Amino acid sequence: MQTRMCRVEMLATAVVHQIKLVRNEYPFCGPPLFKEPKKRSGYLQKQGGVQNNRGWRRRWVIFNGEDLRYYTDNKTCVSKKILPVSCMANVVNDIKMEDNRKYRFKVVTANRVYIFAADTLEENHLWSSTIMEAILKYKPPPDGIKDGGRMHSPDKEGFVKIDGIKNKCFMAIKKDVLCYYNNYEDFIPDCAINEIQMKLASVKELGQTKLQLSTHYSQFVFTFDNAQETQDWKIAIEDAIAEGLADDTVLKKVMVNSSNQWCADCRAPKPHWAAINLGIVLCKKCAGIHRELGSGISRVKSLRMDTKIWTPSLIGLIVAIGNENANNFWEFDMLSDMEIESDTTAQQRKHHIEEKYKHRKFCRLHPKNANKTALNQELLRVAETDDVLKTMQILFSGAEILYHRPGNDGETAFEIAKAAGQSLQMELLYQNGGDKIARLTDSPTFMEAKLRSTVRQQGFMYKTGSNRKDFLRRWCQLERGSLSYFLDDKTLNDAHGVDWTTTAKDSVGYDTMLSLFTTSTDKYANSFELSTTKPGNRLFLFATDFVEDRLSWLRSLAKCFCPIWMMDQMDNYDFSFCGYVYLKEGLTQEWYKSWMMLCGRMLYFTSELIEPDQLQEIDLRKVLHIRLQDTSTNHLCLEAGPCLVIDAGRSVYIQLDLQRDTEKLYAGIQLVSSSESHKLDDQQLTTNNIPVIVEKCITHIELHGITAEGVYRLAGTHSKITKLLELFRKDARALIIRNDDYTVHEVANCLKRYFRSLDDPLLTYDLYNQWIDKAALEDQATKIQWYQYLLNELPTVNKATLKKVIHHLVNVSQHEDENKMGINQLASIFGPALMKLDSSLPVSGQTGFGYTNREISLMVDMLKFHAQLFEMDKSELEKKQKLEKAMEKLKALSSTRPVSTVDSGFIMPVYVDSPQGDCITLQVTSTMKVEELVELAKEKKKLPGEWVLHECVCDGTLERPLNDQARVFSITQEWQDWDEEYRKGVCLCLKVSDLIQTMHSLYEFHAPLFGELRFSEKKAYKKYCFEFKQSKLTCYKDARAANKIGEWEVEKLSIFHGVERRRNPPTEFGFTFIVRGERIKKSRDMPYFGRSVACTTREEAVNWLAGLYKAQYPNGFHS
Ligand SMILES: [Zn+2]
Repeated sequence: MQTRMCRVEMLATAVVHQIKLVRNEYPFCGPPLFKEPKKRSGYLQKQGGVQNNRGWRRRWVIFNGEDLRYYTDNKTCVSKKILPVSCMANVVNDIKMEDNRKYRFKVVTANRVYIFAADTLEENHLWSSTIMEAILKYKPPPDGIKDGGRMHSPDKEGFVKIDGIKNKCFMAIKKDVLCYYNNYEDFIPDCAINEIQMKLASVKELGQTKLQLSTHYSQFVFTFDNAQETQDWKIAIEDAIAEGLADDTVLKKVMVNSSNQWCADCRAPKPHWAAINLGIVLCKKCAGIHRELGSGISRVKSLRMDTKIWTPSLIGLIVAIGNENANNFWEFDMLSDMEIESDTTAQQRKHHIEEKYKHRKFCRLHPKNANKTALNQELLRVAETDDVLKTMQILFSGAEILYHRPGNDGETAFEIAKAAGQSLQMELLYQNGGDKIARLTDSPTFMEAKLRSTVRQQGFMYKTGSNRKDFLRRWCQLERGSLSYFLDDKTLNDAHGVDWTTTAKDSVGYDTMLSLFTTSTDKYANSFELSTTKPGNRLFLFATDFVEDRLSWLRSLAKCFCPIWMMDQMDNYDFSFCGYVYLKEGLTQEWYKSWMMLCGRMLYFTSELIEPDQLQEIDLRKVLHIRLQDTSTNHLCLEAGPCLVIDAGRSVYIQLDLQRDTEKLYAGIQLVSSSESHKLDDQQLTTNNIPVIVEKCITHIELHGITAEGVYRLAGTHSKITKLLELFRKDARALIIRNDDYTVHEVANCLKRYFRSLDDPLLTYDLYNQWIDKAALEDQATKIQWYQYLLNELPTVNKATLKKVIHHLVNVSQHEDENKMGINQLASIFGPALMKLDSSLPVSGQTGFGYTNREISLMVDMLKFHAQLFEMDKSELEKKQKLEKAMEKLKALSSTRPVSTVDSGFIMPVYVDSPQGDCITLQVTSTMKVEELVELAKEKKKLPGEWVLHECVCDGTLERPLNDQARVFSITQEWQDWDEEYRKGVCLCLKVSDLIQTMHSLYEFHAPLFGELRFSEKKAYKKYCFEFKQSKLTCYKDARAANKIGEWEVEKLSIFHGVERRRNPPTEFGFTFIVRGERIKKSRDMPYFGRSVACTTREEAVNWLAGLYKAQYPNGFHS
């Protein structure tokens, strides 16, 4: 504000000097002429009250040469009053030397006097002279000042209550300006309270009689007398906003067709909306109804506001078709009593428009409309002519826009029009969804084709024929969105200026490109495949001499068919796959088309769920599971054939247009995600950036061997260690270390060997000398500072892994009494293992025992000072504490149940048939999955057939089938949140469940579930409405779904089949659920387990359970 004041004041001062100067030089020449009106602004005192009988207030006043406005302060943009010069009769100085406010001046208007006071005499003169000059200079319009001044004859006027103003105001809108006045008397001289420029405003309804107008600086709430008035004002305000934003350029061009000067439906004058797919111009009211028809019938755009979409060919189309030609078709059979007029009611208007366009009641159908094939073929025939009206008739008589003749290279009408250079035909077909590619990429305009044609590349590549064996050298040319190849570059040069398609051996248009894969062949390492929709879904195989050339071609080709916004980003990606896929995130979501790229171990894709023009990523190193699933059995997909499923926290389902491409992508992803590389960075990682192999070995040792004497010192069987490491390398995530297969020492040695087999040691070669140097430092504090510095120099994965290892070793050393492995022993093993490799040569030519000693002492330091060097963040600490607690509680649990902990894992009793049945005790490891436990149990008891593990509570009345892939340990961990009584009563039970058999037959159940069920949250059952959709279970008070009683995300629920008998359920059919992670209490207020839902029949209960379980286990209990 300060700068604003300064600038204005300097201006004012300059003006004053100028006045003096001019007046001195030309004293008799009348008032001087200034190009710019004089302006002033500053704080003045103003006397309040219409009669000037109230107190004085400090006001920020701006005089802009045309009007004087005053405000509460210089920060607000909402004025208290606007006094146009046209209403001012005089300015009178009124110096009152005896008063506090001596330097007054009065602005006199026709109906009121406004009194201001400046702080100094000079200020007073400046203000009064500036205003006086403007009054003298003011020239009224030749026909006199009319009522309302510039707001004379407004588009809308009336009284309104405005929030913050005591009395009702008079409000007027004209063009893009809204003004409100204290009363109608103030409107006559145009003395508004405030003026709002509508260009950047927006309006919304707040209930029936309120409107809220928002600008960037303030909000105004208007209250009207009734709903109708509110609607009328809303329309007027919207019109004013539109007026502010309007641009009449397009409108003028479209009016070249004079029939467009009246609405195509109601003949209202000055229409400024268009239905671009129909080629007609509409009034605002009719446009609103067209919009309700849906974009499949009418695509409404403003001719004045949506200016960006108006390409020359689209304008050309509206001119070529226009209202008269269109109505010759649409209203051919219409009787005059069906006509509507500009003041027809909304209901009649709607009826008319629906009859006309939706039901095609009056239109002049094409003679061939009875024969669909003939009509379709007629469309193809006319598409290459310039008769766009004929095309309109055929199209709206019901021809299929994407119809193509099989024999004619599958060209659609749009492609035929394109080849024939019929731009209006193309536009009409395009606007009605005729461009396959535009549909795919959702391109808004023909700009796409233009953009694609900016991609150019040429050069020699090697290309195989359809036998995909012999590579031939071909001159390749990528231009106009099409890849063509020629016998040689000479052919091309000879054909200069000639249409290439005649000389090219073949061309691949961007609209046929599906995906690109890098590959390598025996002959050429740098080859790639281009998958297309050309006949036979042809797969082209190209090769280049150099990898750089391949990348450059791949990028150029990708630019031809990637989403438009990706085009200029393609150069940033080095991909082994790119193309369009169908994608679904989570089972309950919808499929959508996505652009996907595989770059190294990162998978990028566009997500409609998040931000359609932003890439989402999946780090394939951190993916839990990648599988190719056959969809023929469970109809996961729209298309039959395999579906790629990536489990990365959530499941992502991917399917490509062609089965072969889905399989190729799967192979490509597998290749990069289970790399047998010896780089730390290339390993499968946990979410904490620790290689899965390291995590698994450490967890195994902590569970089974932390107290084993000589752990990490004693050797195991060499061949077994080699085997284990090999298995880890193949797929660490899939590997389960069984106690029966490997001793703790073998696992410990596997971990040591793993570190020694890396390409670069954990502490890295680069930093080796620095580590060794700093380890020799004597001052402990300095040393730790240096270590901290060096730790931060390590790559992320190295640092995270080192932290994990050190914490683990500290843990091992804390059991020294039993395992006899103290810090020194562990350091002498791990120092060299983390710093040097099996095959490593002496670093920097230096070797010797001293270095090994330093390596060891570095490791001793790290173990001793681990707390300072590797601070655990809060979440890690919490996690650790939680785990420790859980282990303790597990031990405690074992005393109340026939469970006993031994050094290696824990013993779990599993019952057969029911909690009263046979008991098998099994040894469970922390990583064991349900399916493994079931296999173990079946083996031990020689149980034939299919068994499902259940979690049983409340004497077995409540049972929950467990998914094969769930971890037994995490299931038992959840019991820690339960009250002791429930915890004592819970057990795992193997059952042959006929419920599951029944549910399998219902697994295709797709529709959302909704129904009235009896629900008991705490005690008594009451009728409520339940709904299950979009992975949420919602309970409503009534069927109108208005009052929400509760809502639960199904993923977070444990759902048990059955209802607790003690609750006195109205029926015995139903289910009980608890929210995982919530404390399951048993108290006087909550005497029963979880929340219970009772159904009327068994079928109903099974139906609900099938739906809920399906959401939880999309692939069934066995996968
Ligand atoms: Zn109309």
